[in-house]
Amino acid sequence: MSHNYFKTYPNKDGFFNEYGGAFIPPVLESEMKKITDAYFTISKSHDFINELRSIRKHYQGRPTPVYYCNRLSQKYGGRIYLKREDLNHTGAHKLNHCMGEALLAKYLGKKKLIAETGAGQHGVALATAAAYFGLECEIHMGEVDIAKEHPNVVRMKILGATVVPVSHGLKTLKEAVDSAFEAYLKDPINSIYCIGSVVGPHPFPMMVRDFQRVVGIEAREQYMEMTGELPDSVVACVGGGSNAMGIFSAFLDDEEVAIYGVEPGGRSMNLGDHAATMSFGTPGIIHGFKCYTLQDENGEPSPVYSVASGLDYPGVGPEHSMLKDIKRVNYDVINDTECIDAFYELSRLEGIIPALESSHAVAYALKLAQKYPQSSILVNLSGRGDKDIDFIMDTFGLPK
Ligand SMILES: *Cc1c(COP(=O)(O)O)cnc(C)c1O
Repeated sequence: MSHNYFKTYPNKDGFFNEYGGAFIPPVLESEMKKITDAYFTISKSHDFINELRSIRKHYQGRPTPVYYCNRLSQKYGGRIYLKREDLNHTGAHKLNHCMGEALLAKYLGKKKLIAETGAGQHGVALATAAAYFGLECEIHMGEVDIAKEHPNVVRMKILGATVVPVSHGLKTLKEAVDSAFEAYLKDPINSIYCIGSVVGPHPFPMMVRDFQRVVGIEAREQYMEMTGELPDSVVACVGGGSNAMGIFSAFLDDEEVAIYGVEPGGRSMNLGDHAATMSFGTPGIIHGFKCYTLQDENGEPSPVYSVASGLDYPGVGPEHSMLKDIKRVNYDVINDTECIDAFYELSRLEGIIPALESSHAVAYALKLAQKYPQSSILVNLSGRGDKDIDFIMDTFGLPK
């Protein structure tokens, strides 16, 4: 791994080796170029950096702590540490990039933030950022998801966002993406499309990664201060891949640190029953960029499933796709059952209720701890689980 990693990847056209790029209609090309140019000038300015730094500290409550799990480590072996992104304002890591994107929108003189949301987590984080900056916010959401994710819909409305119901097709995430893009194309001058992970056309995978790097920078420093050394392994769950890129980015150059990205194995290994894009997928183009994808026989994005709705995306960040190919990161799966077990273990042994997404990373850490009982493991706990408690009780109940 070269020490010029962040200068080398992505290249000027947004490629991480063969992955990434911008496969988009010509009308969008000029908009993306404007955003890229703005990103390289504005976001490197002192004013921007100072404002974002102040927001991180006084509004988001950063730095979030690194915490040593005493009881969990005693039971499973190893020394397990958590980077507590569940303690970031709004309860997950997503606000890290939403505040960055919204701050850039402010500098660009935009009036409105537009996005799609599936489970509503990205919608809530973006609505929060919009309220902070006094920007309009329009969130497109499939009618099926609106019915399923009631609390997040209410949160977005309380925060002042407009929730646009999408009623065509399957009425879920894919249709919401189309609808949000259409709305953005109608007024690209006054609005900006805010992507919710390290996915989409260039420059979004790079921008979102850079806004999430704060997680890794803090965690590396905090971990070194606590232990005087580097962790043996770093673990994070991978949906689109933003929380994972956030923490991985600080350790890519440390050859001695093993890095694990955990994908949702769902309820079986059959297509449609999981969302393990890199473990079972093939390279293809989806939503304007190239990455590992899960596709059906017609080359259409396949339906995906996970108990954690924040992980069910049929593509993945281009940078992860590259890190898999060059073997710097190991990608593996955790299924629904292992995820639920880990959810309860962390709740009952440490008093921390994790998001179901994050529970995938915790489950993998428990496996590593048992396999390598002398080793140290740093897990990115991407979010808190309050949003999941009703679903867990209705679907699984308490553990026996
Ligand atoms: C959305 C979400 C994820 C998945 O998104 P990434 O971009 O892969 O990080 C993970 N954890 C939580 C808590 C989320 O809300």
